[in-house]
Amino acid sequence: MSTGSLTVDIDALVANWRALDALSVSETAAVVKADGYGLGAAKVARALAKAGARTFFVAAAQEGATVRQALGPDPQVCVFSGHMRGDTDMIGDLMLTPMLNTIGQVTRHFESLPGHPFGIQLDTGMNRLGMEIGEWAAIAEVAIGAGPMLVMSHLACADDPDHPMNAQQLAQFHLMTDGIAVPRSLAATGGILLGPDYHFDVTRPGIGLYGGAPFDDARAVAHLDLPVVQIRNVEAGETVGYSNSWTAQRDSRIATLAAGYADGILRALSGNVTLWHGDQPCPLVGRVSMDLLTVDVTDLGETPHTLSLLSATQTVDDLAALAGTIGYEILTSLGPRYQRRYAER
Ligand SMILES: *Cc1c(COP(=O)(O)O)cnc(C)c1O
Repeated sequence: MSTGSLTVDIDALVANWRALDALSVSETAAVVKADGYGLGAAKVARALAKAGARTFFVAAAQEGATVRQALGPDPQVCVFSGHMRGDTDMIGDLMLTPMLNTIGQVTRHFESLPGHPFGIQLDTGMNRLGMEIGEWAAIAEVAIGAGPMLVMSHLACADDPDHPMNAQQLAQFHLMTDGIAVPRSLAATGGILLGPDYHFDVTRPGIGLYGGAPFDDARAVAHLDLPVVQIRNVEAGETVGYSNSWTAQRDSRIATLAAGYADGILRALSGNVTLWHGDQPCPLVGRVSMDLLTVDVTDLGETPHTLSLLSATQTVDDLAALAGTIGYEILTSLGPRYQRRYAER
């Protein structure tokens, strides 16, 4: 085996969905965009459907096709980017539910697929996707008359429970949707944690399912083990890696591992992260290369075959903090070269 092994803990994934479902006063959907946050949308969606999820969200129609093929005809598969030019056949043939974002999309949808399910996305202040209050006022009566499956919006600051933007967007969502007889959805993972006022009829967790903040009680889902290609002795004073950025302060043993920034091990982690052999730390030394890492294993009593980068003790959020990013980016950067294994009881 020459590439890293990414083990997806399906039991942990399902436990995270159940825990978020228990916190939600309403239906709990599942967001599986970006290939299930890098972990494999088909496998993830199937496991969550088996656990009881009935509604799935993706970013683009193509992703919806993958999820539909994995799940069969029954679950609802919703597309955040709505009904874009060129998507009509896919939306129609695969029974995808586009979340329509503009009057143009509403028109396209009604003209090209009359009677086909749809939802509406409203902008309540994030200024990213969805109709603003003026556009919505112009079209609400017609759109509601056509029977949307869902009216939704998205919170910009839900990872910060004290941010005044949360209450502001909640009020705007009420203003735009109160009194309509259509199921409503506002909360992603962060919104679920803000409490029942934010839950409406459907919640849409993503990152929390995959073990990431802000769902602090999440179980780790991604486990990454990297194979050792070679081990060498390096004398004190010798350097390791590109630009000679690390110099051995003592006679050292350096393991070279088969993974690099092309596999999502961000270059910002150079010289700044620890790999693990059981509970023994092994510091990364020198630069992260495209396909290789160099790790100081001098203090290890044995010759390792693999070292661990992601585990229950070093999570995606730990790596994110070291690299100056968020767990979402760590997960969705995990590259296609890893062998993905799905561990289930
Ligand atoms: C990505 C996304 C979600 C899921 O968000 P998490 O923070 O990962 O839970 C929900 N809704 C929309 C519109 C999204 O873009």
